[in-house]
Amino acid sequence: MVLPREGAVGGACRTMEQEGFSFDYTGHLLHLRRPESLDLLKALGLGRSFRSHRRRAGILLAGRVTPYPIQIHTARLPGPIRRQCLLGFIRAWAQDPGEAENFGQWVLSRFGEGFAQHFFFPYNRKLFCRDPFDLTTEWVGRYVPRPELEDVVDGALGLFPPSRAVGYNARFLYPRRGGIGVLAQSLARSLQRLYLRAPVVGVDLAQREVVVGEGQRFAYDALVATGPLPQLVAMAHPLPDDLRARVDELAAVAVWNLNLAVRGRARRREHWLYCPEPHLPFYRVGFPSNHGQLAPPGHHTLSVEVSTPSGTAPPAGWEMACVQALTREGLLASEQEVLFTVVACVDPAYVIFDRRRPSVVAAFREFFLKHGVFLCGRWAEWKYSTMEDALWDGAAVARRLVGA
Ligand SMILES: Cc1cc2nc3c(=O)[nH]c(=O)nc-3n(C[C@H](O)[C@H](O)[C@H](O)COP(=O)(O)OP(=O)(O)OC[C@H]3O[C@@H](n4cnc5c(N)ncnc54)[C@H](O)[C@@H]3O)c2cc1C
Repeated sequence: MVLPREGAVGGACRTMEQEGFSFDYTGHLLHLRRPESLDLLKALGLGRSFRSHRRRAGILLAGRVTPYPIQIHTARLPGPIRRQCLLGFIRAWAQDPGEAENFGQWVLSRFGEGFAQHFFFPYNRKLFCRDPFDLTTEWVGRYVPRPELEDVVDGALGLFPPSRAVGYNARFLYPRRGGIGVLAQSLARSLQRLYLRAPVVGVDLAQREVVVGEGQRFAYDALVATGPLPQLVAMAHPLPDDLRARVDELAAVAVWNLNLAVRGRARRREHWLYCPEPHLPFYRVGFPSNHGQLAPPGHHTLSVEVSTPSGTAPPAGWEMACVQALTREGLLASEQEVLFTVVACVDPAYVIFDRRRPSVVAAFREFFLKHGVFLCGRWAEWKYSTMEDALWDGAAVARRLVGA
């Protein structure tokens, strides 16, 4: 039995439809690392529905766009910034990076002062609403590429070959039309006991029952919990007080996603731009109709992301501030071209990797497992992971339950 809270399957990987436009909950691009994921897409009949794209991403810095990753593309930056980045990298390269105690140190020791000050620190401060020295490094390995010295020098001279793929997201798959929601919809087609709009509001661990909506109870042998861990803790009973109190040690940010339906062609050909500078109200801008058919002919969509500490909202007027900044930066022709906007909020969106997280999550995982509750997915396991990970996290729990 599957009990999603919303009226549609897919969680954060749903697509909203409005007046001929499709909006995901911010960019949701499929980065596949496992060959069996492609087999799964084919088995779902989606093989031809997805198109493979070579990432076109950039960094909006000092009023111009530099290709991503910045470490190997400083040639287009203003001379003084390029010099700081290059010198800082060479100095860091000359030293043994050693074990970094936190993300801030990790950045300084691997990329140097210039890249830290101009990109990594301001960008991650905006995204995580935290000082980089308060974050751990558990999550960085796969997501933050460290280039060779030769590549950084080539990048500063404009010699880095544009065709060379770098990073975990150098290529991605995206549906030709309809938005990322088609993936979850296809998966759900084979479900026999799917009950939409079934918010679980209580978990009775003693009786092994879940309480849904107005109070309907369902017994379970095994419960696979995919909602955010703090919400599960709040609704689960009985739970020792000292353990329950530890949930306050878990931190996250919410992402507020302003989607714009816009007349005319997109002003940029990138799929998305990172925006580290503090004077811009957003940390990232996406151009979703550059990778999928998501707008009627002669129109396009923009997706703007702003993060706030979980449970809080952006300052009043943030939407207008974003639209004005987009226009100022030349990413939007004019405010008059915007037909309408749609706001989506993902909360929690990014969990904060701090020192307390691993032991708190381990304590909850162990406790819930004893009561037949399996934490599964990005927010239940309180981690940083992708759609592909979520698919295989689910498959792993399913195999465990059927003893395969
Ligand atoms: C800003 C942002 C951008 C991202 N971009 C990408 C990307 O480009 N590529 C990528 O691969 N991944 C991306 N991700 C990650 C991706 O969203 C997650 O990995 C994926 O959604 C995790 O799936 P999940 O099933 O664990 O959680 P969810 O998608 O949140 O699904 C949870 C499910 O649990 C249900 N649920 C929760 N609480 C309850 C309740 N109380 N009662 C009943 N049901 C409940 C929900 O209805 C939902 O169906 C991004 C995430 C964010 C925040």
